[in-house]
Amino acid sequence: MKTHKEKLVIVGSGPAGWTAAIYAARADLQPLVFAGRAAGKDLLPGGQLMLTTEVENFPGFPEGIEGPEMMGRFFRQALRFGTRVVTEEGVKDQSDLDANHGLYQTFQNVQSIDLSFRPYKIVGDNGFTVYAETVVIATGAKANWLGLENELRLAQSGGGVSACAVCDGALPIFRDQEVGVVGGGDSAIEEASYLAKFASKVHIFVRKDRFRASKAMQSRVLGNSKYEIHWNTEVVDVLGDSAVTGVTLRRNDLDDGDPGQIEHLPLRGLFIAIGHTPNTGFLGGQLASDEQGYLQLPNPGFTATETEGVYAAGDVADPYYRQAITAAGMGAKAAIEAERFLAEVA
Ligand code: NDP
Repeated sequence: MKTHKEKLVIVGSGPAGWTAAIYAARADLQPLVFAGRAAGKDLLPGGQLMLTTEVENFPGFPEGIEGPEMMGRFFRQALRFGTRVVTEEGVKDQSDLDANHGLYQTFQNVQSIDLSFRPYKIVGDNGFTVYAETVVIATGAKANWLGLENELRLAQSGGGVSACAVCDGALPIFRDQEVGVVGGGDSAIEEASYLAKFASKVHIFVRKDRFRASKAMQSRVLGNSKYEIHWNTEVVDVLGDSAVTGVTLRRNDLDDGDPGQIEHLPLRGLFIAIGHTPNTGFLGGQLASDEQGYLQLPNPGFTATETEGVYAAGDVADPYYRQAITAAGMGAKAAIEAERFLAEVA
């Protein structure tokens, strides 16, 4: 099989990946992107924004923009400057791709990568292989979901289920309405406090009898009448056809054998904050990660990993901000760092 040697390969096609591609292409590195395959809800090319309806906090879009439309624009901008993409039919550039068809094309995933020596060997689907002088890992993280059928359907259709209050919480449908947050960690409390600015009441559903969140975060919600905390409570169904109308709850602190009390609670929105899982499986543990799997960057403020010429950008290396704009910023940094590294070793 024919192999290619590349100056820069970017793995991932969210804001971090495409921004790295735009910067690298403009620096004449002819980046090659593995954009990933549409293989289910969590694996769309374009990343988590492909599951987001309205994006209102990305600067430059005063009227807001749909997540997929925004990622389509990132994609076209990257192609315009010479970025190439690995598709099922091999490497393609702007002249071969249907830019209007955007991200709904047959791109490839990376199956494995060998970081033991440079140039790094990257194997995609179907055994397609490239060697890369530098690599940007921008594969993002996926929000964990409860796995309820209606939850996923209403998240995909913009019907009031979301895994990001900062992205969706300020939408008019939630204003002065009762909404719910699932989870007991710092994220859940952060989401709840953000939502409390707009919602009339925020219910927090915690599956145990205690929070996992830090005491400081807990103090934001405990004893505050804007919040109602439902301990030992699981959300077992989301109600509503085209929009959330409520949830079905089950108490789980009852005796063994008791199926638990079932209760219906009317709500207009449900925010799932039960953690994220970074997409790092294909790395096979070759880069250092924290206990949740986020890649660790040894030099604060830089995107270089501990492996020469390998950079990580966006949510895959960022458990803290997890925003499109911060991911894009890291993508730009990664491309600039790769360009400078290549200039030094050339
Ligand atoms: P965490 O893993 O800390 O918490 C996840 C929460 O979700 C836990 O309460 C867990 O319950 C609950 N949970 C997990 N699965 C389910 C399920 N299937 N059904 C119901 N509940 C479930 O994740 P976070 O996203 O909250 O935080 C990730 C990291 O980011 C942490 O290190 C956190 O400290 C940090 N962070 C810090 C912030 C800050 O300081 N401002 C803000 C946001 C995040 P259980 O406890 O029972 O396992």
